[in-house]
Amino acid sequence: MDLNLLDECREAERIGISGHIRPDGDCVGACLSLCMYLRKCLPQAQVKVFLEKPAEIFRELKGYDEIDSAFGEEAPFDVFFVLDCGEDRLGDALKYFQTAKKTVNIDHHITNKGCGSVNYIVPEAGATCELIYDLIDPERLDKDLAMAIYTGIIHDTGIFQYSNTTPAIMEKGARLICYGFDFPRLIQETFYQKTYVQSNIMGRALLESIRFMEGRCIVSCIDRRVMQFYDAEPSDLDGIVNQLRNISGIDCAIFMYQTDVLEYKVSLRTSERVNAAEVAAFFGGGGHARAAGCTMRGTFHDCVNNLSLHIEKQLNSV
Ligand code: 5GP
Ligand code: MN
Repeated sequence: MDLNLLDECREAERIGISGHIRPDGDCVGACLSLCMYLRKCLPQAQVKVFLEKPAEIFRELKGYDEIDSAFGEEAPFDVFFVLDCGEDRLGDALKYFQTAKKTVNIDHHITNKGCGSVNYIVPEAGATCELIYDLIDPERLDKDLAMAIYTGIIHDTGIFQYSNTTPAIMEKGARLICYGFDFPRLIQETFYQKTYVQSNIMGRALLESIRFMEGRCIVSCIDRRVMQFYDAEPSDLDGIVNQLRNISGIDCAIFMYQTDVLEYKVSLRTSERVNAAEVAAFFGGGGHARAAGCTMRGTFHDCVNNLSLHIEKQLNSV
């Protein structure tokens, strides 16, 4: 499988780029780095990024201020890139995808079958940003591009810790930090640092967590009342599920937050005993083997019961 980014954009005048709703570091890094690269190589083309407003922590990435989160009327794009997801999670950017003359899907989610007229789906890759790194001409790399790509790589590998970390992705990381951006600050400010409110909610989620299946599963849920009490956004909940996963003996950590009446966004983190992508895919979501998510309808208890059936089946089969 091969993809030449510039060949795909030959003669394109208007290029659009988007990624998934509630964009994370990999999604933001991939969209901004691809935008920077195309603007650099194709100065005659107009290149625009559409994303739900990404968290402020990413504001230092070049192009952050130009991200369009209004999703207004646009003439059809000549090429529209879908990064780090399929069309099902494009949210308001779906209309640009549907009307574009050509669509290119670049992703590393094993559950994505490829939604573009051109697809570059590599489940072995640790991050969509790793794919952007592979696809761009190394001669055109610069400090801003390196910083955006590095952001995606560190976020999706948990600073080179998760099982999607490979020697190859570490080598790419090594080459990227040669460009001289302040990577310790980038890691601290986008990955570890939490606001006071974020720490409070995390504390609350940990305190109210419940273990079940003989201590092998843990679940915690933040409902809308609590979100409103803390005046919190969904992005303020990032990192809670990883913290649950860090508890000893846990094979499956579930974090849920309420998105509507009888509707929850579910995040799963698992050991090698449970395939998170399979569980999430059953409920219409997706992701990776060790980290996945979905949206579920019903009461909190309905959701946990339904998830448990699938998790238990997997736990009992190993
Ligand atoms: P998180 O739990 O951090 O939101 O997501 C973990 C992984 O699962 C990420 O790679 C994310 O893109 C994917 N994921 C989360 N929710 C969904 C979903 O509803 N659908 C799909 N297809 N993937 C999801
Ligand atoms: Mn990703």
